[in-house]
Amino acid sequence: MATIFAHDLVPIAVRAGVGPGHISNRLLVVAALATVIPDLDVAAFFYGIPYGDAFGHRGFTHSIAFAAMAGLTTSLFATLLNSSRVISFWLVFVSMVSHPFLDAFTNGGYGVAFFWPLSDTRYFMPWQPIMVSPIGIRGFFEARSLQVLLSEFFWIVLPLLTVTVATRFATSRKKAIPYQLTFICKRL
Ligand SMILES: [Zn+2]
Repeated sequence: MATIFAHDLVPIAVRAGVGPGHISNRLLVVAALATVIPDLDVAAFFYGIPYGDAFGHRGFTHSIAFAAMAGLTTSLFATLLNSSRVISFWLVFVSMVSHPFLDAFTNGGYGVAFFWPLSDTRYFMPWQPIMVSPIGIRGFFEARSLQVLLSEFFWIVLPLLTVTVATRFATSRKKAIPYQLTFICKRL
């Protein structure tokens, strides 16, 4: 796993990029929860389910299908979340699927079962620069937690910040161009 902080940054970055007018506070909270739900599967360790099992850690809760189901379920409650069904689906789907995507870049544990239920095979990215975060609060406060946070800063926070600023810039330019055209036409 990456840390809970890193996972939560994804919907926050999306909202910062597209602007708060498109994503309500309620939907943002649900999307932030969606980024950490996949790791509830650590409960499997307490029930003796092996790590490599489809129902073990990084198993079915880390699949694309699970994220799609979460997105679909959320879209049914779009009105309560002050949002549209399409936005609710996509934000929760992208937020949740970003979790196994980031996990696949970590350098520890087993890979993630992206394609469950079609396949139980675990996958890693060909390159794993993110230091894996220890499981559990006690583990997190061990000496190497600073190294974990530093690696997440370089490989998650900085890339997200770059994409957010670029998206913000692109969307503000998009709005600015029609306004500028109107202004020029009025002067002609
Ligand atoms: Zn995970």
